[in-house]
Amino acid sequence: MPLLDKQVTIGRVRGISIVIDPSWFLIFILLSWVLSASYFPLQVPGLAPFAYWAAGTLAAAGLFLSVTLHELGHSLVAIRRGLPVKKIVLFVFGGVSQLEEEPEDAGTEMIMAIVGPLVSAALAGGLHLAKVAASAAGAAPLAVVFLGYLAFVNLILSVFNLLPGLPLDGGRLLRALMWKRGGDPLRATWVASEVGAGFGSALFIIGAFLVLMGNLAGLWYILIGFFLRNAAQASYQQMTYRSLLAGVKVEQIMTENPVTVDQDILLEEFVDQFLLAYHHPVFPVLAGDRVRGVAEAEAVKKVPRELWKTQTIERCYRPLSEVQVLSPSEDASEALKKMVETKSGRLLVMQGDRLVGILSRRDIMDYLNLKSSLFLG
Ligand SMILES: [Zn+2]
Repeated sequence: MPLLDKQVTIGRVRGISIVIDPSWFLIFILLSWVLSASYFPLQVPGLAPFAYWAAGTLAAAGLFLSVTLHELGHSLVAIRRGLPVKKIVLFVFGGVSQLEEEPEDAGTEMIMAIVGPLVSAALAGGLHLAKVAASAAGAAPLAVVFLGYLAFVNLILSVFNLLPGLPLDGGRLLRALMWKRGGDPLRATWVASEVGAGFGSALFIIGAFLVLMGNLAGLWYILIGFFLRNAAQASYQQMTYRSLLAGVKVEQIMTENPVTVDQDILLEEFVDQFLLAYHHPVFPVLAGDRVRGVAEAEAVKKVPRELWKTQTIERCYRPLSEVQVLSPSEDASEALKKMVETKSGRLLVMQGDRLVGILSRRDIMDYLNLKSSLFLG
């Protein structure tokens, strides 16, 4: 379903796009339904269905707003500390502020991590006071229950996010604390993500146990546990890559004097002497000593086989103007980001219009593996 693949931008605050993941719509409908059909009628019986539906939908929207405010807390502090934030994505179980770069010192990371749970705790306190005041003023019982529900939701957001495992805020705090006490940030990341994965596994096991006992609510635990485990591993990898690549330039890890292809060779020769001989997916194409573009296995496949004996590579290379290139002095982490964005495993490194090397994802991975084996043991 193409419609559901797309994240929907619903607004912008100080240059940060607020984006909804499609999974969120499903949760919004489910939650509105559970609240309207079960929670509110049980708490305040005897009202018209319309009142329950209004309260249920508003409460689901209130959860959404609470998560957004929590994430805005993180993002605004990040921006104030000079770390750009492109967007906030709201998922099934909460939100993620997408930082362009990781904080460079433990203090910044600590403040950034704690502010989200603080916003949620403040909202919980404020909503609880509003509930008490509404009740004392003799407001409608449904309104009192509604405020109480939102206070509770914010309390959960605050407490759950303080669990000390990555990718939760508590995990970031734990990592920053170990880092600040003179620890190695890489090892701190590893410990915090192992704790996060541990929480994930524990939830998973509790969920499986509940389901075996006939309690289907265990499925939620399994789902959240699974999500947490994966996210812990992903955030470990991402943070590790970023710190291992910090300060490393493209020219330090690129392959110099890459194998190039003349634009006049036949496709058949290209396949035999280059694609099959080197098994690289991409080769720079030259006319004389000028780079014209890149030839890829994918493009050759589109040319009918019977033409390979008569057609040259010129027929199917991609011109330089259409390919992403790197400069030798660029940060390797930036290069990795470009590879991910363009879904390309090999990028040309150009100094002006001169080809000086090629950087492949494998070059970066080899470097990361070597460096992590040296420094992480
Ligand atoms: Zn948070």
